[in-house]
Amino acid sequence: MSTQNITRILIVGGGTVGVGTAARLQSQLNGRHARITLVNPLPHMAYRPLLPEVAAGLIDPNDLVVPLRKVLRKCEVVVGTVTRLEHATRRAWVGTPDGEVTELDYDIVVMTAGSSVREQPVTGGAGQRRSCKTLTEATYLRDHVLSRIAEAAATTDAGERRRLLTFVLVGGGYEGMECLTELDDLVRFAVGRHPGIVPGEVTWAVVEESERILRDAGSKHAVRTLERLAGRGVRVYLNTTAEATGDGHLTLSDGTEVAAGTVIWNAPSAANPMLLDTDLPLDARGRLRCTSTLQVAGESGAFGAGDIAVVPDLTRVDDDPSAVCRATALHAHAQAKVLADNVESAIAGTALRQYHQPNADAGANPGLYRSFAEVRGGGVEGGKARLLHWAYHVARIPGLSRKTRIFSGRLPGQRFRRHLVERSIGGGSATVHEMPAPSGDAGRAKAS
Ligand SMILES: Cc1cc2nc3c(=O)[nH]c(=O)nc-3n(C[C@H](O)[C@H](O)[C@H](O)COP(=O)(O)OP(=O)(O)OC[C@H]3O[C@@H](n4cnc5c(N)ncnc54)[C@H](O)[C@@H]3O)c2cc1C
Repeated sequence: MSTQNITRILIVGGGTVGVGTAARLQSQLNGRHARITLVNPLPHMAYRPLLPEVAAGLIDPNDLVVPLRKVLRKCEVVVGTVTRLEHATRRAWVGTPDGEVTELDYDIVVMTAGSSVREQPVTGGAGQRRSCKTLTEATYLRDHVLSRIAEAAATTDAGERRRLLTFVLVGGGYEGMECLTELDDLVRFAVGRHPGIVPGEVTWAVVEESERILRDAGSKHAVRTLERLAGRGVRVYLNTTAEATGDGHLTLSDGTEVAAGTVIWNAPSAANPMLLDTDLPLDARGRLRCTSTLQVAGESGAFGAGDIAVVPDLTRVDDDPSAVCRATALHAHAQAKVLADNVESAIAGTALRQYHQPNADAGANPGLYRSFAEVRGGGVEGGKARLLHWAYHVARIPGLSRKTRIFSGRLPGQRFRRHLVERSIGGGSATVHEMPAPSGDAGRAKAS
């Protein structure tokens, strides 16, 4: 396949699928006739489904950091971003943090660079929109929310106090709803520590462009979640878009003006723009076209999975021939195993297996004790679902000590322990210094 019979495997992206695939490949191949190189913009992975818990102060951000070189000891980890890939010549171009571009030749490429955030035609105020897609953003969001409450407690201006205690979530997908409910818990907890503020002063609103929230979940859960939000006094604007943000104000498409101290931007995911600089086949929405064996459609020596790819969902194709796997961590984990096995089979020249994973639908975790988890044919709610969500995701974070630290924070007696120290925020004008942009940050402002 290549010089000296060594197969050069290039893994693009060190997230859930990339790390899972590399870890399995390094133990299965154990250095036999293969060299694995993984390229990721950061030297670590932060497990994304638990970011809302970081934003809520329930998990210390340090506990979620997985150093890639430590868990992928038999792989070469390159810190950088693949900016261009030419599969015809088996070559990738990698931009490194020092501004250099290096070329990497490979025999097999594994595309796992995740998705990006869809840009909205919103004018102004980019720096005032918060997000929860990366560890830095989640940590900053927590500090920002805590600083808003502290500022509200200190001001004597009633209008300013109302604005500081108004929180708006734009985008009612399940990631956003997880953030909202976890942050609502944080706000209630923090407000309880400021005797001058009563919980009734806090306002939450959700702005969703479609006719329902939680579009990826079953309608029953969407309706139940709506009822629970209403019970908590959260205003939900459906079929509405945010037209403009700026100067602490949000203008909605129905003309409503909201003065909000915090706007959490949870725009839907979009195809990773790096795919446009490759010669790989894309679907109409710009996502990587893959087959049920997780090979890139029509290409030999190229594989893909996770949020970057569109993979047929064989568990649903009988009912809907166009069904594809949803962008969830559950699929990401399951696909990583098949991906590693199929890369190994491709090297050995043996048959590849198909990806067929029942029960990999989205689960979500909308706040303490108000979770739901969807399993095929039904769902569970409340504490059971919460436990499922928590146990499932913590079990999948690499490293026993990391798992133990996170779990021990949720033992009886520790349950309400929160990390409430706010850092480096003054008057809501702190600057966040981001490391090289991961997919979720494409094109967005990094500073507030
Ligand atoms: C806040 C939040 C909450 C979530 N909650 C849940 C949940 O409760 N349940 C659930 O099932 N799923 C949940 N998800 C979704 C889940 O996290 C994703 O589906 C999963 O992480 C996808 O894995 P991936 O490896 O495809 O992509 P990612 O984990 O996003 O990894 C992609 C990696 O590729 C890197 N990359 C991007 N571009 C390049 C490039 N050009 N070159 C090199 N590297 C690149 C990125 O920096 C990143 O490290 C949540 C996601 C978020 C953001």
